[in-house]
Amino acid sequence: MIFAAATNNAKKLKEIQRILHALGHDAKTLRELGIDIEIEENGTTFAENAVIKAKTIAEICHMPTISDDSGLEVDYLDGAPGVYTARYAGEGCTDDDNIDKLLAALEGVEREKRTARFVSSVCLYIPRENGEDSHVVCTGRCKGWIGFERMGDGGFGYDPVFMVGDTSYSQMTAEAKDAISHRGQALRMLGEEIAKTEF
Ligand code: IMP
Repeated sequence: MIFAAATNNAKKLKEIQRILHALGHDAKTLRELGIDIEIEENGTTFAENAVIKAKTIAEICHMPTISDDSGLEVDYLDGAPGVYTARYAGEGCTDDDNIDKLLAALEGVEREKRTARFVSSVCLYIPRENGEDSHVVCTGRCKGWIGFERMGDGGFGYDPVFMVGDTSYSQMTAEAKDAISHRGQALRMLGEEIAKTEF
């Protein structure tokens, strides 16, 4: 199946395409579809935001659309930054700004208390001409902890400080990350839903 991928984040898009390819599917980018839009994510959960993104794009391109809304929940910070993960250090901040703020918030905190999880809610939204749209959301989680400093240079976002065991997401090969990541788990669950769906 070919889906529209509802994201402007080039590196997240690459992961979504890579994982969908492994499941025998393909995803077109917003650029390929000629869609230039900034979607306001005003939901209070990852799942709500995933639906907002997929529905918005599906209604524009009239194609089955897949979105991902993801973020980091840090136990010591009572689950923050959560849905604010992308703008943790403020609107328009960079990945480095976000990591700096996170490391500062955990300054002096011992390893046992640095536990965290990455969460990804993915939504498949199917627009239908008769108006009977449908959607399904799957959520994947990966447990880990926040490192004391950046490790590795692969990946994107918080990858250099998200540790699973002694290895950061950044230090993993793409295949190793996909095998355990929040996004890999969520999209593989969605793959099972896709297999049961009539398009
Ligand atoms: P979203 O694009 O609104 O879903 O924001 C997701 C936030 O979580 C961004 O800051 C991303 O950089 C970060 N993020 C999501 N998935 C990953 C990942 O796999 N590795 C590192 N950071 C991620």
